[in-house]
Amino acid sequence: MDIFEKCAEAAEYESGLKESGHYFLFRKLESPQDSEVVVDGKRVIMIGSNNYLGLTNHPRVKEAAIGAIEKYGTGCAGSRFLNGNLAIHEELEKKLATFLRKEAALVFATGYQTNLGAISALVGRNDVAIIDMYDHASIMDGCRLSFGEVKKYRHNDMDALEKALEGTKEKGKLIIVDGVFSMEGDIADLRGILRLAKPYGARVYVDEAHGIGVLGPTGAGAAEHLGVLDDVDIVMGTFSKSLAAVGGFVAAERAVIDYLKHTARPFVFSASLPAASVAAVIAALEILRQEPERRNHLLRIAGLLREELAAKGFAVLPGETAIVPVVIREELDLCRLCKALLEQEGIYTNPVLRPAAAQNLLRISCTAAHTEAHVERLVSTLVRVSDKLGVER
Ligand code: PMP
Repeated sequence: MDIFEKCAEAAEYESGLKESGHYFLFRKLESPQDSEVVVDGKRVIMIGSNNYLGLTNHPRVKEAAIGAIEKYGTGCAGSRFLNGNLAIHEELEKKLATFLRKEAALVFATGYQTNLGAISALVGRNDVAIIDMYDHASIMDGCRLSFGEVKKYRHNDMDALEKALEGTKEKGKLIIVDGVFSMEGDIADLRGILRLAKPYGARVYVDEAHGIGVLGPTGAGAAEHLGVLDDVDIVMGTFSKSLAAVGGFVAAERAVIDYLKHTARPFVFSASLPAASVAAVIAALEILRQEPERRNHLLRIAGLLREELAAKGFAVLPGETAIVPVVIREELDLCRLCKALLEQEGIYTNPVLRPAAAQNLLRISCTAAHTEAHVERLVSTLVRVSDKLGVER
């Protein structure tokens, strides 16, 4: 059998989707990420990105990145481990540790690599990773790369978590969850998780990719929002959403960070984050701290959108984050809706098809750069287009 056979089959499937106009991947943007972007020469509302604080095109953030290029050049030419460790990496790590109220932090080149590296290094042969079935792919992949056992429990179900914890007495245990689940936009039951973790001697690792900048009194994420930040052992985050760049980090007690620094393979064996991204994150963190009104506005806009969609009869998943998913039962309806929204109405959203989520979802994600006018236009357009296409609400 030819090893490339699967590629030909996939290509055939893709060309079918392209012919019917239902291929939604790799849409080409020709402008900065903002509340409005240019796609195929046309200006459209972007309400499907993770630019939660609207900072990816902020003058101060861009200036910081340009300044860092002038000081450090464009690349690090190596891993932090040997020859790519910049002073600015360590400056950012100190700021992140302070922000997340942990002893130390470690910066990785992407959020994906952060989960891959931190989880695979921590979960050894005699350990068990216990994960929510809706956790992000990078958490799943970190578990696959580890030598330990992996147990998955039903989404946000504390009885199922307790069952998973039972029978793990002799092992080191790490419970790993998304603080905010990336597709459904709901928040992990971190209080329940911590209540169970203590008696079973498990450590808790929270991925705050979609929580940082959005939730909590200082924008530190879901754990801060639920008042349990200090009880969480490891906070993970990415720079590709609220923090306007690319990269990721973990924050924890110093011994854990020192250990990861020397053992996390995607950290040790991969080149470090370029100074431009690091400087952009430092500037974004400053704005996050100085302008809490950004996250207040974002949450107000997302709440308004949720309310208005529900009032029009759409099946919006309940939540309180920037992610507003609408259940569209039939896959074809979801594809037709997304196509019409973008091509005819100039509104960019994301279709999330099963099995990427448990239900087919129109994933709408708000940012601090959106206005009430954007919400009004989206809601009235969705009503009109779904009526026209006969999409069931
Ligand atoms: N964790 C979660 C929950 C995510 O949603 C993502 C990205 N969508 C990542 C980790 C990976 O982060 P990055 O894209 O910054 O590599």
